[in-house]
Amino acid sequence: MIYGRVALIGLGLIASSMAHAMRAGGLAGEIVGYAKSAETRAVAKELFCDRVCDTAAEAVAGADLVVLAVPVGAMGAIAAEIGPHLKPGATVTDVGSVKQAVVDAVAPHLPAGVHFIPGHPMAGTEYSGPRSGFATLYQNRWWLLTPAEECDAQALARLRQLIEAMGAKVDTMDVAHHDLVVAVVSHVPHAIAYTMVGVADHMRRVSQSEVIKYSAAGFRDFTRIAASDPTMWRDVFLTNKDAVLDILGRFAEELFVLQRAIRMGDGEHLHAYFTRTRAIRRGIIEAGQDTAAPDFGRAPPPAKEG
Ligand code: NAP
Repeated sequence: MIYGRVALIGLGLIASSMAHAMRAGGLAGEIVGYAKSAETRAVAKELFCDRVCDTAAEAVAGADLVVLAVPVGAMGAIAAEIGPHLKPGATVTDVGSVKQAVVDAVAPHLPAGVHFIPGHPMAGTEYSGPRSGFATLYQNRWWLLTPAEECDAQALARLRQLIEAMGAKVDTMDVAHHDLVVAVVSHVPHAIAYTMVGVADHMRRVSQSEVIKYSAAGFRDFTRIAASDPTMWRDVFLTNKDAVLDILGRFAEELFVLQRAIRMGDGEHLHAYFTRTRAIRRGIIEAGQDTAAPDFGRAPPPAKEG
């Protein structure tokens, strides 16, 4: 056991996967949960929480580790509510996809003596809610932590131990650097997927039947990404605005170069460009972040129940 009592605030995909992994590994003495709706709390009690509470303040009482697993835009209000109820010496972490906005919203509400270690598991699916979690979500995935310089070394080591015991690999980095990296590897790719599906949606004639019928190729992967939770992604774009706009600007420049090469019939350019991008895919497979399987018809997550 790594923590005696863990409080999960927000009980969706990320928190429920943590709970399943902690239970499978015997990593927490007690898992207490809180989410906004009574319905989610009831499902969590049935599937993965030892106890659920009617308020976040009650849920964090006596907890050694508190995990904020709500959409980024909800973190500040939760922190304000739980601040006075945190156990002295407790660790508070979060799993938000953006770090600077979470640090700004949460840190001012936490009392001295509580260790705040912001985090971001680089793992997810397009499913959400308390039934979508599964114990192996974090296996071999990166979990980024962005501790402040003055962060307590013991508290950091303990959190790292928990994350590694759930199967993930930990890296630490600066908050601003995190937000730029995830804009490139996650946020802008989602923006592009949303846009591409939006384009098809506007072309009603094509999208009504053919897009669904023939979507075995590239478009199908876009629709999977574009099925991600609307609240979560609204908050990501609202709170990682600068980095996302920077990368989107670069994307637009690249797109214009590609567009020009196509217009000019510059096959040499296209071939060289696609050869470079293919090498990046190979690098991701070699790094163990995906498999080389053709993946026609991705398997649903193991623990998904409707
Ligand atoms: P999710 O499945 O949609 O779950 C969100 C949970 O937060 C639900 O239990 C919801 O409760 C609860 N919630 C929302 N607003 C709340 C509030 N004001 N007070 C209390 N509870 C509230 O989301 P998720 O995918 O687990 O994402 C959680 C966090 O992880 C987000 O910050 C997201 O940026 C981050 N993250 C997500 C992914 C991913 O791929 N999904 C990956 C890495 C990080 P109800 O069910 O009652 O509404």
